[in-house]
Amino acid sequence: DLPVLLGEETSNLTVGVRVRPLIMREQNDTSVVNVVLVDGNEIKVMCESGMAYTFTYDYCFWSCNPEHPSFASQDMVFTTMVQPLIDKAFLGYNACLFAYGQTGSGKSYSMMGIDIGVGNSIGKEAGIIPRFCHELFERIVSLDDSDVVLGKSASSSTKVEVSYFEIYNEKIHDLLGGSYDGGKRTPLKVREHPVFGPYVVDLSVHGVTSYEDLQGWLTVGNSQRATATTGMNEKSSRSHSIFSIILTQTQEETTEGGDYQKHCRHSKINLVDLAGSERLSHTCTSGDRLREGVSINRSLLTLGKVITALAENGSGKKKSFVPYRDSVLTWLLRESLGGNSRTMMLATVSPANIHLEETLATLRYACQAG
Ligand code: ADP
Repeated sequence: DLPVLLGEETSNLTVGVRVRPLIMREQNDTSVVNVVLVDGNEIKVMCESGMAYTFTYDYCFWSCNPEHPSFASQDMVFTTMVQPLIDKAFLGYNACLFAYGQTGSGKSYSMMGIDIGVGNSIGKEAGIIPRFCHELFERIVSLDDSDVVLGKSASSSTKVEVSYFEIYNEKIHDLLGGSYDGGKRTPLKVREHPVFGPYVVDLSVHGVTSYEDLQGWLTVGNSQRATATTGMNEKSSRSHSIFSIILTQTQEETTEGGDYQKHCRHSKINLVDLAGSERLSHTCTSGDRLREGVSINRSLLTLGKVITALAENGSGKKKSFVPYRDSVLTWLLRESLGGNSRTMMLATVSPANIHLEETLATLRYACQAG
């Protein structure tokens, strides 16, 4: 295999926060006011008492006022924060990007967006996942073109494969395939490969050759995603969804001596839309809902601990134990977290006074991660 090319960077973890605008319902409610402000890399939250909290992140994106200097469109969020991951992917790094936040704060808007586009073009409101894939294919096409232009004797090819699954109550469901038992989806198992680490047994993996090809899979997966009504938001998602892209670059050449050589470089990128971070008391009362709440919190809590431990280890301050095994999510993503992998968190918050507590909780979580 070709070696991973190491860059100059020191930090493997990047944290951004995105503040969504007030939605129509909130705009029409006179008791709802905007209490979150963005100023450069800082986010300020104003409490009713007059007290203000300030948090600093690598990136802060504001969506409330298009005239504001920090205002960020879907394109800007992608270009600023995510595009560098594509460069890393081509260099052989693994990467994970998590969208973390309260239900209704803009996770799916940021990750998937509203309009994934038609044919090989991207929609204006498309989110990170479609934009990532769109750009990946654009680069692959131009890489292949440059080979032709240079008239290289060596030939290189790039293969893209995708899988899309969700973790719901610590159980895994394939969103692009999967098996059904008496109409009920059968969860998939996790096993550990001695070399490649934890993996989902029988998860479907699909080769894609163009953005248009990929759109079909995105549409299938999105319609499969399990959602159910909670007290907070009808479209609330209580599962974690993981969209994985496996990029394999192969170089084949015949040396002057006539020896045939083949080199491969693999990288895996996981784009994760996490379940809503709201606390148990808000959404869960009893039975199944309570169980869901417990497992959602376990994964989110473990993810926080894993990221904190990785950040501490990366800073060289101390060697912390990384508790990957404590949740299915972190266990499965182990190979893409830490080591030579890049980790990004995009925390999403509402600017409304009615969500102040959850907003503060999200901002604290994201600070701890950074
Ligand atoms: P979540 O996935 O966190 O539950 P959504 O992504 O569904 O939240 O966002 C809730 C609502 O807010 C949706 O109607 C979405 O279109 C809107 N929204 C979220 N973020 C933005 C943004 N940055 N700009 C415009 N609208 C947004």
